[in-house]
Amino acid sequence: MSTNGAPVPPPQPSLLKSTALSNGTVPPSVFTLPQTAQLEALYTIIRDKDTSRGDFLFYSDRIIRLLVEEGLNHLPVVKKTVITPTGSTYAGVGFEGKICGVSILRAGEAMEAGLREVCRSVRIGKILIQRDEETTQPKLFYSKFPQDIAKRYVLLLDPMLATGGSAIKAVDVLMENGVPEDRIIFINLISSPEGLRTFSEKFPRLKVITGWIDQGLNEKAYIIPGLGDFGERRYCE
Ligand code: URA
Repeated sequence: MSTNGAPVPPPQPSLLKSTALSNGTVPPSVFTLPQTAQLEALYTIIRDKDTSRGDFLFYSDRIIRLLVEEGLNHLPVVKKTVITPTGSTYAGVGFEGKICGVSILRAGEAMEAGLREVCRSVRIGKILIQRDEETTQPKLFYSKFPQDIAKRYVLLLDPMLATGGSAIKAVDVLMENGVPEDRIIFINLISSPEGLRTFSEKFPRLKVITGWIDQGLNEKAYIIPGLGDFGERRYCE
């Protein structure tokens, strides 16, 4: 048993620390961040109920930046040759195609700044999905996208993948707006195994970048151990 403050042996970077899904495998379309001790320390801070709002903002932003960078790693590139200041030819690569972010309101908005820090002047769309009280199903209340979204790669932003209902509805709406499934990358901080399985079975060609896979959901559909309500932690004292 470890005690607060007691040294722990360095982790093996190759070890997937996140909880594996019940059949022991993570779907091939799902990518986690390298599960390093640094990353676990960031998660430990944001999971702690006693962490101040200022620290929650700072450390969740650090994780968001890592997630955005990892998401961008999955975009295609094309060959590009440049001449360096030494007059040499460098055969490298350049970005292919345009991207945009789409945040699922309201928690997803917290990830927009992280995307903007990495991709200057990126276009950002928004989507509001809430539970329909009559049908209990996720319902689209509002969406606003760049008008050429069908030609862009979309980074879909929502910090917590719990049941997967909102994310699935958001992808349905994006696809109705002409975005192919394999041009969407879903980025989140924490996933439940249940939500991840439901989501990736429905959209096997869509890549999911998640920072951590947790143990499961409680009866109120909160992720366990999780970090509570992300929006409350981020926006309220
Ligand atoms: N949304 C949150 O903010 N937290 C959860 O645990 C699940 C969904």
